Amino acid sequence: MPFEFSFTPDQDAFRQAVRAFVEAEVRPIVAAMDESETFPESSIRKMRSEGYFGVPIPEEYGGLGLGKVGYCILLEELARVDASHATIVAAHTSLGSTSLLCYGTEEQKQRWLAPAARGEKLLAFSITEPGSGSDSGAVSTVAEKDGDGWKLTGTKIYVTNGKEADSVIVMAANDAKLGPSGGVSAFVLDKGMAGFSVGRCEKKMGLHGTSTAELILDHVAVGPDRVLHQVGKGFHVAMTALDVGRVSLGAASLGGMQAACQEALSFSQNRTQFGLPISEFEAIQFKLADMAMGIHALRLMVYHAAANLDRLGNDPSKWSRLDRATKTREAAIVKCLASEWAADVIDEALQIHGGLGYIRGTPIERAYRDARISEIFEGTNEIQRVVIARDLLGRGL
Ligand SMILES: Cc1cc2nc3c(=O)[nH]c(=O)nc-3n(C[C@H](O)[C@H](O)[C@H](O)COP(=O)(O)OP(=O)(O)OC[C@H]3O[C@@H](n4cnc5c(N)ncnc54)[C@H](O)[C@@H]3O)c2cc1C
Repeated sequence: MPFEFSFTPDQDAFRQAVRAFVEAEVRPIVAAMDESETFPESSIRKMRSEGYFGVPIPEEYGGLGLGKVGYCILLEELARVDASHATIVAAHTSLGSTSLLCYGTEEQKQRWLAPAARGEKLLAFSITEPGSGSDSGAVSTVAEKDGDGWKLTGTKIYVTNGKEADSVIVMAANDAKLGPSGGVSAFVLDKGMAGFSVGRCEKKMGLHGTSTAELILDHVAVGPDRVLHQVGKGFHVAMTALDVGRVSLGAASLGGMQAACQEALSFSQNRTQFGLPISEFEAIQFKLADMAMGIHALRLMVYHAAANLDRLGNDPSKWSRLDRATKTREAAIVKCLASEWAADVIDEALQIHGGLGYIRGTPIERAYRDARISEIFEGTNEIQRVVIARDLLGRGL
């Protein structure tokens, strides 16, 4: 069987449907959303009813059953027009739904995953704290034993969808001295639980349509029905979700790169200097060629990684050590390269726009601000390099 790389007719049709939706419902509101720094309620409501909050989730749990490849198509198309919409879906799906799909009991899947996949409930995922970012196993939010349940106390920060989410996957230390292996557990909390509240929301450089919230936990009482996976295995939950998140971040970067390249291409053909369209100058042509090379390579990488995730399936108990290591390395490579290539492409596209690229409100200026976070969240690129290097040193190329 030759190495084949093509989308099925159904996947192509899904891409066309998403593209039409995004052009009709998202593009018209993006500039105003960015300027007002507000969560795009109305377009998100429509996306929920289209099933876009459950794309990779099997149909038996309320999703569209289109796998990670379908999910990457969605994120690529969303991010071609707006990174905030893509990020809202990604925090919900890659981090929230994946945790429930891979580690939830049947009862937990019916209770939280199915409504999330149907778009009725919005999810968020919270591991970061003021004192633990890259060192994410060092969480100081405490899960103190209380009868057959726990009381959770601590402060979480930088939670995407934190303000709007109905439920949040929260990492807390059941035994801080054990660290990430054995000492961290994943809990599902619902908004409105006693002691659980939203604190400050950050003002940011970009992603103005997303909330980035502090969550305050003050002796929140949780029963055993809210523990995902086993007590002490929360770090496994987080790392599995982040592997999906890193591949999907690659898809969003791919969308952002294409939009920037397209903007640069048409601007360069219309902007005349020295009596010629600037696209006639070799310096500009080389920038455009470099963009096309990055986009081509990233497309292959993202969908290869997404297809591998689909091949592995959603049951971690069936994954071998090699499967896990390969998946984690590939996700880190995709995340790192995608975010850096996207930053380069968008920077060069802005350069091609000259002074106009620096003017507030142009699509390329917004893309530049929106893209910078991709080198930081879902694990900084320094941490991705640590992950890749450790695996290389452990089992070679
Ligand atoms: C807009 C936004 C949305 C976010 N969404 C979420 C979310 O939904 N849920 C969530 O839990 N978190 C979220 N985060 C948090 C994000 O994942 C963290 O900010 C990120 O992991 C980095 O942690 P930190 O900010 O504490 O930086 P630090 O860990 O303090 O890192 C500071 C610098 O030191 C470097 N560094 C640290 N350790 C090492 C090392 N061992 N080797 C080399 N370099 C190192 C880092 O790479 C970085 O350059 C979000 C953040 C932002 C800004």
